[in-house]
Amino acid sequence: MPPTQTASTSTFPRIVVSGIQPSGTLHLGNYFGAIRQHIELHQQFESYFFIVNYHALTTLQDAEALKKYSLDVALDYLALGFDPTKSNLFLQSDVPQVTELSWIFYTITPVSQLEKGVSFKDKVAQGLSANAGLFNYPILQAADILVYGGTQVPVGADQKQNVEICRDLALRFNDRFGNGKDILPVPEPYILEDVAVVPGVDGRKMSKSYDNTIGIFDEGKELKKKVMSIVTDSTPLEEPKDPDTCNVFSLIRLFADDAKREEVAAAYRAGGYGYGHAKKDLLQLITDTFAEARERRHELSNHPDDVMDVLREGGRKGREQAERFMENVRSATGLITTY
Ligand code: ADP
Repeated sequence: MPPTQTASTSTFPRIVVSGIQPSGTLHLGNYFGAIRQHIELHQQFESYFFIVNYHALTTLQDAEALKKYSLDVALDYLALGFDPTKSNLFLQSDVPQVTELSWIFYTITPVSQLEKGVSFKDKVAQGLSANAGLFNYPILQAADILVYGGTQVPVGADQKQNVEICRDLALRFNDRFGNGKDILPVPEPYILEDVAVVPGVDGRKMSKSYDNTIGIFDEGKELKKKVMSIVTDSTPLEEPKDPDTCNVFSLIRLFADDAKREEVAAAYRAGGYGYGHAKKDLLQLITDTFAEARERRHELSNHPDDVMDVLREGGRKGREQAERFMENVRSATGLITTY
């Protein structure tokens, strides 16, 4: 189902925007929950996909790691099929207008609204120190969307709240500064379909915060070790098993086509098929699914200049688009610039 146009965005062209966090190695949860859909969407609509290194800095404060993860995201996306001639892939830090718009948004955001932010509350609950960046995270996210005139934001259902804050900000900005005109679009969440929660090796939601991930491009011994460590119950090999309650099968079903899925489910139910067999099947499915992408990634990593060229060109287009909106924003708010 394509993103729909709404009355509130109808005067603005449809633009899809999405940020990707470079705060760790991208994993299978990220792939099935977001990247796969990004790869599909980027071909269909005018779109901006950016690597949100300013966001990552709220939790990752290690220059070498931030640089590495940022470039890894670019490599991963390009290897997985992102075509830079169809869309724009770039670094958030290449578009300084984003932080400029954030500041303007700070001045129209009630502190009480940010105190309710889920990410902020979650991170505080996990015992992470709440720096002001973490607190203001949703504002930077809103600026990320609105600076490009984003009208559609692909997100999982769990992230709807952040789009709500962005919509509020757009409405409030237009109301306060628009003089009857809409300076900024009011974006819509584009809830990604089929977003199953991908389990990690310990059975909880796969997440870098739980250290239970399988990287998209893990390979060899490392991949095998992780797959073999997936938690299962202790039903003996010969006994029938329930595929629907098994973490290994939850992963198999994401990779397998219908026929393979049925075949494995039947083997579970019949007995004589142990978790070791299931893990071997999963390992093969992961290896085969990403074989071409893995090849492309190796190739690309030997040509880092080409990757930088893609990011540079994406950043140039991003800045151009951002500047279009910022001219109107500065003028509406009365911020004079003399350059
Ligand atoms: P992490 O939990 O590892 O920090 P992020 O919060 O950066 O991952 O998530 C990036 C994107 O990947 C989001 O769109 C999120 O919904 C999706 N995603 C992350 N983990 C999973 C998962 N286990 N299952 C499905 N989608 C996921």
